[in-house]
Amino acid sequence: MSRSPAPSFSGLSDQYSSLQPEIERAALEVLRSGWYVLGRQVREFEREFAVYCGRRFCVSCASGTEAIALALMALGAGPGDEVITVANTAVPTVSAISMVGARPVFADVNQFLLMDVGRAQGLVSERTKVILPVHLYGQVADMEGINALAKQHGLQVVEDACQAHGAEHQGVKAGAWGDLGCFSFYPTKNLGCYGDGGAVVTDREDLYDLLLKLRNYGQQQRYLHLVKGINSRLDEIQAAMLRVKLPHLDQWNQARRRVAGWYHQRLAGLCGLPNDAPGNLHVYHLYVIRTTRRDELSSHLAQYGVQTLIHYPVPVHLQKAYADLGYTAGDLPATEQAVREILSLPMHPAMTQEQVDLIGELIADFAGIEG
Ligand SMILES: *Cc1c(COP(=O)(O)O)cnc(C)c1O
Repeated sequence: MSRSPAPSFSGLSDQYSSLQPEIERAALEVLRSGWYVLGRQVREFEREFAVYCGRRFCVSCASGTEAIALALMALGAGPGDEVITVANTAVPTVSAISMVGARPVFADVNQFLLMDVGRAQGLVSERTKVILPVHLYGQVADMEGINALAKQHGLQVVEDACQAHGAEHQGVKAGAWGDLGCFSFYPTKNLGCYGDGGAVVTDREDLYDLLLKLRNYGQQQRYLHLVKGINSRLDEIQAAMLRVKLPHLDQWNQARRRVAGWYHQRLAGLCGLPNDAPGNLHVYHLYVIRTTRRDELSSHLAQYGVQTLIHYPVPVHLQKAYADLGYTAGDLPATEQAVREILSLPMHPAMTQEQVDLIGELIADFAGIEG
């Protein structure tokens, strides 16, 4: 069989080559401007990203983790408060909850590997302050159900949209459903910068005003500190480079959806495929299949130079760092079952049909030889 070269997992160097002159020009312009923190680039990026998300306001910050922590701080979540989230997520979702001193409470996931609203409902207590769903892999969680639950109990909603820039449910974007929506611009995200970065979007002016202070030592103007804040800011250079990339985001997401379509075709019947919940526009930050022979398949693909990853191999409730929460194996059956079977295949906008065909053939070989 003739094989074309295996694709890289997330295609970052392809993306850089395609934008190199513009990115380098934008970075140089900032270097030469003499203004590096909280300037014009950040202001403009915040305006543009708020418009993109369909929200009134955006406050950028230093990472996705801190975007979530700032959102929780803005809502006054802290010691004694509980935040309902999921364990099937990147640990930083939960790091942010710990950072503010609140207690994470984990709801199990549904068939889309997103927060199961029925389970979340069973976890609401008088200490619950916030519901924090994660739009995992690039599709929006059941926000209609989550917002209804929040309304019923007077809770606030913070979305972890770090994997879902541009994803939609019923035409409404990720980040535009809750009180606050949080994003990461870590390089591999659907919209990523060249280092760390993050943002919070909202329609609420009170929260916007507070977030502007919280990310900048709590100051209203220089040396006038109204609240206890931190230092969490997006650099001018990163903002300038994000402004180069933002106009390409929709087209990149479309390309990811096209790649996902090729995968769906090639892999039908060979393994469990990711599925879009009804009404969702999935932006495939990751293309995650399921198979009971996950580790064998991963080694098989690695033999042919195809890199795969597991997002995530240990759910947060079973991580050593969170042992103090008192969870044990068996507490979240759907999450724990998924974690044994999930495998992320290479996925990025520059992938070709030949590359997907190659991976499809390798998975078919595996199913044929060993199935
Ligand atoms: C990337 C990510 C984060 C954290 O973002 P950082 O910018 O790396 O701090 C949080 N939640 C999810 C689901 C993520 O994928």
